[in-house]
Amino acid sequence: MVYYKTNEEIGLIRKSCLLVSATLAEVAIFLKPGITTLQIDTMAEKYIRDNGGVPSFKNYKGFPFTCCISVNDAVVHGFPNNIPVKEGDIVSVDVGVYMNGYHGDSAYTFAIGKISEEAKQLLRVTKESLYKGVEKAIAGNRVGDIAYAVQEHTEKKYGYGVVRELVGHGLGKELHEDPQVPNFGKRGTGLKMKEGLVIAIEPMINMGKKDVYYDTDGWTVRTKDGKPAAHFEHTVCVQKNKPDILSSFTVIEANEKANPALDASYF
Ligand code: MG
Ligand code: MG
Repeated sequence: MVYYKTNEEIGLIRKSCLLVSATLAEVAIFLKPGITTLQIDTMAEKYIRDNGGVPSFKNYKGFPFTCCISVNDAVVHGFPNNIPVKEGDIVSVDVGVYMNGYHGDSAYTFAIGKISEEAKQLLRVTKESLYKGVEKAIAGNRVGDIAYAVQEHTEKKYGYGVVRELVGHGLGKELHEDPQVPNFGKRGTGLKMKEGLVIAIEPMINMGKKDVYYDTDGWTVRTKDGKPAAHFEHTVCVQKNKPDILSSFTVIEANEKANPALDASYF
């Protein structure tokens, strides 16, 4: 069942998304070698609650943390832990906020210190593919048009692996609503989108092969070949002539550039 949102609902989802973005912008200030992903998670939870939100992921189907933090070969749904991040790591931080009855969802992958040239390309191309997908979130297009745009830019153009097991999604009153929004597929297929459809578009892109497995914690998704993966996500509202991106990377990117412990040279 696909729920199209009213303008009032879209406004509330935007508020939740902007708190997610502000939280990720705080992460961009605090991330540096030596900090643990659990410290990031604690900081993010406090920031969300101090600003009137509730972490969407905490206790969602038993997920025990505020953030999914996925380092290097972890693709998504990583458990925050006591391992300090180090120079050369790529760290995906995925955050959800529930506020005023609606969820917001966004993710960003950070480069700690100097990372390899091939990791830089992975981050740049994954972020580009997100916007290639977002461009297609226009009334009259189909979900497959988004899927195709992401796959075309990553798998066909760069030979990266597009994860098949996990997909983007509708959201609103629920964190995950219909439709599913895959990062692979055929143009002109799937749901024909109308104004007011709110979806999370989230390319999960592997430097190597597409295959993944679940870690023993039951949540963390890792690449089978052990190569790194990147993940960027925006919540987007489908509109008539151009998509309305409800989350924002603007402050995250500014803080990333201002933080000497992060490498923002890839974009
Ligand atoms: Mg997310
Ligand atoms: Mg999501």
